[in-house]
Order: sequence, then C-alpha cells, then structure tokens
Amino acid sequence: MTDLATHQAKLAGHLARFRETGILNLIGGQSVSGAGGTFQTHSPVDESLIADVALGTAADIDAAAKAAKAAFPAWAALDGETRKTILHRIADLIEARAEEIALCECWDTGQAWRFMSKAALRGAENFRYFADLAPTARDGLSLPTPTHLNITTRKPIGPVGVITPWNTPFMLSTWKIAPALAAGCTVVHKPAEFSPLTARLLAEICQEAGLPPGVLNLVNGMGEGAGRALTEHPDIKAIAFVGESRTGSMIMKQGADTLKRVHFELGGKNPCIVFDDADLDRALDAAIFMIYSLNGERCTSSSRLLVQESIAAEFHERLIARVNNIKVGHPLDPKTEVGPLIHKTHFDKVTGYVEIGKADGATLAAGGTRVGDRGWFVRPTLFTNAHSEMRIAQEEVFGPFLTSITFKDEAEALAIANDVAYGLTAYVWTNDLTRALRFTDGLEAGMIWVNSENVRHLPTPFGGVKASGIGRDGGQWSFDFYMEQKNTALALGQHKIQRLGA
Ligand code: NAD
Repeated sequence: MTDLATHQAKLAGHLARFRETGILNLIGGQSVSGAGGTFQTHSPVDESLIADVALGTAADIDAAAKAAKAAFPAWAALDGETRKTILHRIADLIEARAEEIALCECWDTGQAWRFMSKAALRGAENFRYFADLAPTARDGLSLPTPTHLNITTRKPIGPVGVITPWNTPFMLSTWKIAPALAAGCTVVHKPAEFSPLTARLLAEICQEAGLPPGVLNLVNGMGEGAGRALTEHPDIKAIAFVGESRTGSMIMKQGADTLKRVHFELGGKNPCIVFDDADLDRALDAAIFMIYSLNGERCTSSSRLLVQESIAAEFHERLIARVNNIKVGHPLDPKTEVGPLIHKTHFDKVTGYVEIGKADGATLAAGGTRVGDRGWFVRPTLFTNAHSEMRIAQEEVFGPFLTSITFKDEAEALAIANDVAYGLTAYVWTNDLTRALRFTDGLEAGMIWVNSENVRHLPTPFGGVKASGIGRDGGQWSFDFYMEQKNTALALGQHKIQRLGA
C-alpha cells in the first residue's frame, strides 16, 4: 500500500461514524442536532459528500449562549492550577488523535498532509502554552501613591463567541479557544460552514478531557444565521473572529447594539521584499514557501513579491522553474505540496484573477490552469511585470497565486510595500542590518520577519494593522482581550477628603 492508500483507508474508518450520525452541535455537554435541520459538507478533493452537518440557527445560539452563561461562574472561579491540568489533558488527547485530526482536516479543506500533520500538533502546543499561563492569568499590579494603594486584578470577561474560517481551522480554533478557557471564559464556537469536521473533534476531545458541560459549546451553521446571532447575543461579551476583512466590518455593526468587544484577525496582501544584497537561495526558498504552502490559503502568505530590479531577471528565472515543479496532488499523499482549493466559488475566484491579471497587462509566468476535472485543483500561479495599482497586487486572492513587482531602490520598495489596504505581515530579505532596521521601521505591518519565513514564537504578539485586524493574540495580549482589568484603590491613611456641606 502506498502512503496515500494507507491514509485513505484510515480516513474512511474515521469518517464512518460521521456518515451515520452526521456532525452534531455540542450544547451544554449534549450532542444535539440543529434547529435548522442539516447542511452538507463536501470534500474539495473529489466533491463527494463527507457528512450532513447540524444547521444551527438563532435558537441554537441562544441555547449555547445560555449554557455558556450558566457554566461561567464555576469555570471562572476554578483555581488556575485546575484549569491548567484540564487544558494539558486536552493537549494530550489532541496529540493522541493528531493523525485523525490531520486526516480529517486534509479531506475537509484540501490542505496537504505535510502541513496538516504539523498543524494538528500545533493545536496541542496552543493548549499547552496557555495551560501554563492559566495559574497567573488573574495576576495584576500594585500601583502605590502616597495616599492610596491601587491593586489591579484581571477577571475573565464572561462567555465569549469564537468564529473561525476554513483555512487551517483546527489550529486557528485552538489558538482562540485555548486562551479563552485559560482566562476563565466560557465559549460558543461557530466554525466555518466549509470545514466542520475538526471543530467537532475538538469539542469531543474537550469533553473527554473533563471540561465541564457548557464551558465549550459548538454550534455549526452559516455566517448570516448562527454567526450573526452569536455576534448579536446579549449574553456573549466578546467576539474573537478570524476571517475576511469585510466580514469583520459586518460583525462590528452586528455587535454594536450589545457593545461587543471584538478581536479581529483579517485578510492580508503581504509583501516579501528581496534586496539585491540578500542571500538569494534562502530568499527564494522562503518566498516560494510563504505563498505556495497551505495552498496559499493563508492570511500570512507573502502574496506580493517585491524584487530589486538588478536581480529580478535571475530571481524570476529560478522562481519560475521552481513554481512549475511544485507537486499538485491529493492532499493525503505525503508528497503533495499543493492540494485543491476549498470549494468551487473560491476556485472560481482564484482562477478569475488569472484573467484579471492578464487583462491588466501583467505577464502570466507560471500556472493559472485547472488540474484535472474533479476537485478544485489549480496550478501554482505566478504573475511577473505587475504594478502596484493592478488588482492582482491589491486584492487578497487567497490561493497559490503570486504577484511579482520590481523596484529600483529602498524608497520605492517601501512605498509599494505599504501601498495596500492591508497590513498583516511582511518579509524582508537583506544582509544590510542598518537597512533592515530602517526599512522595517517604515513598514505598515503587525508582524515582520527579516531573512526568515513565518516562524512563530507563541509569546509574541500576533495580529495586523489597517484592514488586517484589530487587537493582538499571543501571551498576555490574549488575556488582554479575554479579561477585564479591575482596579481597587485602598486608602493608606487619613488623606484629606473635601468636606461639602460642612
Ligand atoms: P469569512 O469571513 O467568509 O468567514 C469566516 C467565518 O465568519 C465563518 O465561520 C463564517 O461562517 C462567519 N461569518 C460570515 N459572515 C458572518 C456574519 N455576518 N456574522 C458572523 N459570522 C459570519 O472568511 P473565510 O473565507 O472563511 O476565511 C478566509 C479569510 O480569513 C481570509 O480573508 C483570510 O485572510 C482570513 N484569515 C485571517 C487570519 C489572520 O490571522 N489575520 C487567519 C486566517 C484567515
């Protein structure tokens, strides 16, 4: 048996029960169907039906929010060490079921095994990291003045809503849910309608690990239905959202009446800037990895390549050869580098940009065509001779689609890099330290890597500027969102109080 066949056989075993029962919601510790009936989830690999999924409505969200509200006081009051133990148990179970999670994720989203097997383990790492912070989550400061001792403490904000997208959904869900639970919040999770499998696995794992009923609730459904209802629910105190910038804008409006606190991780059009003094071998590897890994369906992907004119011809020649060599195939095949896009509408969007790029006058240097006639496979695509004002240089394509622009000097590179609505990440390649510091200082981006691809260190702040987001995750930044600061001032003695009416 090939590795692909082994993976397929194992996956079939894991999916069998979902075919029988469908993918159910989890509300107050009970697996329940949705008030709206069901919807279907299909695999992007061959368009086949995976399972029926509970279609949650406003009524299900209401039940889940009430369960989260009921569970909140006890979970919030639990000592941090106990929360830590439970969260580590969740991480243990994720590790034990990492293969199952990765297989399901590949089949549900089209992401390649080589990346999803690591993403499943990163989900466990997210739980371990925040588990260890749980005992100190409430820590505050002592801020004395001559007359008063101010004591700050942190309290969990209450039940929160977590709304996640379909790209690397398991990893992203754990990145939101783990800190919320560590802080003492209870959660209602609304996963993307296109990738419900691993959200269900996570909910089951949390239950098995001993998370009390109602602490994590799962409601599947559509954005306009269950998603909207979650953002409008008065018992939900905050919304952590990962998705498109325009959805973030809608959520802000929907949450206005109930004064929701929001945390947004949104889109990107991230530049990878290669100066002529860079280590070009490494820059080439990183530029390719950062746009074509994860099918380019990655918020932090370097979808704009900015190359200095003096090295552009040689760099492009090597880039084209490598892009043409990328292995597109079945996501469960360990050799596959790029799998199918998530669904037909997204495939149409991504391939539509091929025509847009050509019409705008850029050069299609690689890819741009469909692979096969089943599933949503597309050849990794590269446009050269592009300009910053073109749509392929401005809009988030969210696929294996790279737009290359040349620049003369540092000033022009910075102007192009910042000339988009987004500001999530940037990648800078130069061996000139002074230039690196000067250039990164001018970049409009929340996260920048110099001479590196995206390598995450969990205590560092993760998030974007401009249309790429509001707020930061990671370390204490996550607790800033999921917790309230409380200040208590104690008078140290008999300070003078103004006597009115005396
Ligand atoms: P999307 O905005 O279409 O959907 C995301 C989630 O929001 C889904 O669960 C969806 O059902 C829900 N939703 C949709 N409309 C809603 C509404 N009116 N109210 C409440 N919920 C609603 O995004 P997507 O297509 O699933 O994901 C891709 C996008 O996510 C890209 O733009 C990508 O850049 C972004 N993303 C950003 C980050 C980051 O960290 N900045 C990470 C991953 C993905």
